[in-house]
Order: sequence, then structure tokens, then C-alpha cells
Amino acid sequence: MLKKLFKSFRSPLKRNPHSHSKPEVLNNRQHALQRSRFSRNAVNVVERLQQAGYQAYLVGGCVRDLLLDLQPKDFDVATSATPEQVRAEFRNARVIGRRFKLAHVHFGREIIEVATFRANHPQGEEEEDSHLSSRNESGRILRDNVYGSLEDDAQRRDFTINALYFDVTGERILDYANGVHDIRNHLIRLIGDPEKRYLEDPVRMLRAVRFAAKLDFDIEKHSAAPIRRLAPMLRDIPSARLFDEVLKLFLTGYAQYTFDLLVEYDLFAPLFPASAAALKQNPEYTGTLIRQALANTDARIEQGKPVTPAFLFAALLWPALPARVVRLQDRGMPPIPAMQEAAHELISEQCQRIAIPKRFTLPIREIWDMQERLPRRSGKRADLLLENPRFRAGYDFLLLREDAGEQTDGLGDWWTDYQDASDSERRSMIRELSSKAEEGTDGPARKRRRSGGRRKRGPRSDSPASE
Ligand code: ATP
Ligand code: MG
Repeated sequence: MLKKLFKSFRSPLKRNPHSHSKPEVLNNRQHALQRSRFSRNAVNVVERLQQAGYQAYLVGGCVRDLLLDLQPKDFDVATSATPEQVRAEFRNARVIGRRFKLAHVHFGREIIEVATFRANHPQGEEEEDSHLSSRNESGRILRDNVYGSLEDDAQRRDFTINALYFDVTGERILDYANGVHDIRNHLIRLIGDPEKRYLEDPVRMLRAVRFAAKLDFDIEKHSAAPIRRLAPMLRDIPSARLFDEVLKLFLTGYAQYTFDLLVEYDLFAPLFPASAAALKQNPEYTGTLIRQALANTDARIEQGKPVTPAFLFAALLWPALPARVVRLQDRGMPPIPAMQEAAHELISEQCQRIAIPKRFTLPIREIWDMQERLPRRSGKRADLLLENPRFRAGYDFLLLREDAGEQTDGLGDWWTDYQDASDSERRSMIRELSSKAEEGTDGPARKRRRSGGRRKRGPRSDSPASE
């Protein structure tokens, strides 16, 4: 496939990969990218900017993905026009961002992101008092609005494979950083000195892992080497930005593999400290529950079904709950208030790292509360639960816990049967429960005897429900 995309192509290895000079230019006989493969709206934006006298190219993920025959998520444009100049050209454009200012051009639901060519940051004295660019003491870029030339723009991008520019007029690819070579060799490689580039923006470590998982590429060894050491730098990233990044990590179809890479590179702990501690203490249960939740998410995305971040966060954090419940119980708190308090503490601590908005933290709590209510089914309770808008998520979550090996005494199967049962069957199911006199009297923490559900699962001692 790749051979077909790059018909005849000289080895780029002869060039200095960090040279600032001329790009490698691939004409339309050397690659198979046609302008018709790009979004019509994005091509229109490029052409309108060119007609207005600016330079403009399609850049980044869309060029990379199309070269790999993948459907791009969105189409980014790089231009010599400033955001304000872009806004002046398009009625449907808005200027957004502070740390990184750019223009969004809206076409119905499609947004074309138009970024102005930027230069690498001046370091040291030059940048003092600059309102355009600033760094903190570790070199992290706080503002990134120093404009530059096309050549500068290529060098300030994160990975070589993201620094490819497509010229719609000549259907040429401009390659300043040997990105085509790395695409052919399936390598994620930072442009420039990896350590410095991670210090400038630690989120690049997450991006390296995200692209490695999505594209099934390796992280080139010099780009991989500093990650474990620098991973704690993620703690300084604003929590709102990390929330966006975490959604990209887990909601784009490659979550399970991404999680494995995050753990491998020690990037999971700075994002989810409590879950990482649970993973250390209870690797099998925690790992299985999280990976299963992520596998379900990937499968739903593959099938075009909706996914909610709430369910995902509920699963990521659930294994961290029991230790807290126990701690509070040891201080004399009864089980149910201890569970409530632990949930509250855990979510507020997590929000300091990753700003999960209220519209998701509320459903997380509801999914967890449902876990305490699902065992209590007597009288009208079961039917009331079925009508609860959160029932489906709560039930799915219960099955997830069981899949991870939690002992629930066949509760998942019971609910599966109950949903399918007729009215009279339901009545007899409830009668059977009360005759067994096993209705919950002491909340979710009680261990129950198995009543011989369809699934065979061994009891486990390290699951949250068994604390
Ligand atoms: P996708 O859209 O598929 O997630 P992408 O590569 O298009 O991947 P975006 O986040 O849309 O990623 O960013 C567009 C481009 O901007 C990237 O390809 C890269 O060139 C550049 N870029 C984005 N974030 C950074 C960063 N933190 N540091 C340097 N360059 C970046
Ligand atoms: Mg993109």
C-alpha cells in the first residue's frame, strides 16, 4: 500500500533531518495524494487564502492520515495570514485561543482550523516582556503566538509525520523534517531535541503515545527515551487541557492499546494517580476492569454507537474506591456514607488533575450509586430501578465488574433475565428472592452466596464489592 502511495521516491536519509533549508518536494508522480481526497471546504479555504495573496497549505493529521489511507478526523490549514487576516477573509470565521491563537472557519458542522505559520520560541533574554511568547522556568511554553515563515512553522511542529504540507495547486507534498521517511518506517519521531521539545510542552508525550496507538507506529528510540523520566511534568499542565487530551486518548477508537502504552511509559500515574495506585496494588482486577471498559468503548466507536465519557471515567476510577471506603470505615463511618464520601473525595481529587465537567461527574456518581441499588430488588424496587434513566449504564457497569472477576452472586444474570421476563415471570423472580431472604440489608459491601447464575465466575477477594 505504502509503496503505491510513494511511487518513486529518493531515500531522504541523505538529508540532514533537522536542516532548516529546503524541503523535500514530492510531486504528484511521486505520491498518490489527490486534492479530491481532502475536504472540499478545506481546499476552498486554502484557495481563497491564496487568492488573497497569502501562502496556505493543508497540513498535519490530514496529510499524514491520507498517506496512510486512513480517514482524517479533521482538516487543518497552515497559512501566512494572521488569525485576524483570516477572519477578514471569511464571514464564517472566528478567532479562538489564547495560548495558541487561531481561526476557525465554520461550514455547517465542519470546522476548518486555520493556524498561522509560527516560529520556534526565542529563548533567554530576547523573550523577556514579550506578550506573544513566554515560558516558565522549566522551558514550558505558556504562550505560543510568535509568527514565522513556512520553514519555521515546520520546525516548531511536534512530530516529523505531522510536519507535511500539501500544496493543493500543484498537488505537491513539502517535507521539511523527513516525515515521509518516518511514515514509511512507521515511526513517531519528534522534530529536534526530544527532551527540549517535551519540556516545552509535556502534552507531546501524550500525543506520541496517542499517535503510536492510533497508527500502530513505534516511538523512535530517542523520542521514547526521555518519556518515563519526564512523565511527572504532566502534573503542571492545566487540568482543562488535560481533560481534552484524555478524551482524545480514550474516545477515538484505540483506547485499550493507548492505555497499555500510557502504563508502559509511566504516563498513566500523573493523569490518574489513584487509579495507578490501585493498579499497583491489585494489578489483575484493576487492569482487567479498565481494559475491558476501554475495549467496550473501542467496539462501540467501531460500530458507530455513542459513548459517554462518564462511563469511562466511572470505570477508570472505580478500582480506587475500595481502599478509601475501608479507610473511612476504619474511622468508624458506616458502609453507605463511607462509600458516598469516598466517591466524593476521589472525584474531587481527580478533578484537580483532569477537569471533568459537572455534566460528567454527576452521572459518574449515579452509575456508582446504582451499584449499591442493583442488589436490592424486593417489592417494587426492581421495577422502579428499571425505570431509572441511569439503569442501562448502571447495569452495563455491573456486567463490567463481573467480567473483571467481581463476585456479585449472579446479579448481572438476574437483571439480564428480569429485563427479558414477562410480568408474571418478574413477579415470581421477586418472590423467589424474598423466599431466599437474601435481600440487601447491609449494602453493597456484603458478600453473597452464589445462587447458580448462568455464568461461572470464581469469587475474588480483591474486588471493590468485597471490601
Ligand atoms: P488528529 O487531528 O488526528 O488528532 P493531528 O496531527 O491533526 O491529529 P491536531 O491536534 O489536530 O493533531 O494538531 C494539528 C497539527 O498541529 C499537528 O499535526 C501538529 O503538526 C501540530 N501540533 C498540534 N499540537 C502540537 C503540539 N503540542 N506541539 C507542536 N505541534 C503541535
Ligand atoms: Mg487534526
